[in-house]
Amino acid sequence: MGRFRLFGVIVAVASAGCWSMASNTISNSKSNAVTETKPDRTIETKSPAAEPTPPPRPDLSRQIVEGSTFIKSLPQGLAMPKDDAGRLLMREYGAVFVARGGAVPPSKVVFENEADVTAYQRSVKTSVETVGGFRIELQEPAMAALRAAIAAASREGLSISPRGSDSAKRSYGHTVDLWASRVEPGLKYWVSKGRITNADANRIRSLSPFAQVPEILKLESDGVFFAKTLDKSIIYSVAPPGSSQHLSMLALDVKEFENARVRAILAANGWFQTVTSDLPHFTYLGVKESELSGLGLRSVSNSGRTFYVPDI
Ligand SMILES: [Zn+2]
Repeated sequence: MGRFRLFGVIVAVASAGCWSMASNTISNSKSNAVTETKPDRTIETKSPAAEPTPPPRPDLSRQIVEGSTFIKSLPQGLAMPKDDAGRLLMREYGAVFVARGGAVPPSKVVFENEADVTAYQRSVKTSVETVGGFRIELQEPAMAALRAAIAAASREGLSISPRGSDSAKRSYGHTVDLWASRVEPGLKYWVSKGRITNADANRIRSLSPFAQVPEILKLESDGVFFAKTLDKSIIYSVAPPGSSQHLSMLALDVKEFENARVRAILAANGWFQTVTSDLPHFTYLGVKESELSGLGLRSVSNSGRTFYVPDI
């Protein structure tokens, strides 16, 4: 972890799914959009040279390659995103949709509202356990694999535990609150800078969180950013409402994420890192590491860690 700290862990910013615990994110190396950006105010930058420049803006123009192994590996009933924002979120957080091992991923990339999320969460078999003092809920196969990983770790004198009470299942409302905590300060700031009119800001405020997502991402493609530090995309700061892997109950934020042996044990039990900007975040994929490429996931190495992301 030393290298991460040297490079500059974004202390005040959490990411994709782990926002509520803040603190351990890295730049997302997948995007090739690179523009000059001010360093995060909270970054400790001692030796940034070895790391890629943080990609401040999402690439909304990229299309998804049809017929790829990843697309072929998706569940039949999955509603493919038809808009730029949905495609972006599929690229960033989509590994969970090819989960195997009895996992049931959502049937859409972005849930539209609380009722949508609740209906899905009630449709899958879940398991509740108290782990490391926190009550967490995961899909049954994911919890079984976690239990196996915890047992394996214990035999080596290690522990695997959640970072907090919201490290596994989350509600839609939770994702909305965090989204608003980035959007509202951003709107005020950009209005004050004359980059957005007051009328436009109010129009965006009046939209549902679901409808706000494409609007905010569109603004960001023009350099009007909504991450907490206002210098990069909001998607590297919080998961847009309805898109967090935690809603699927197939994700867990792990307290011991800095321990390479813990990461290896989790991987051996089907839990992998799939969001390159989010270090404590693990996703249950339910297969062996050697099978991930067959699901259309490609590995991305970053500072000694391996992330598996959709190859689309
Ligand atoms: Zn997470």
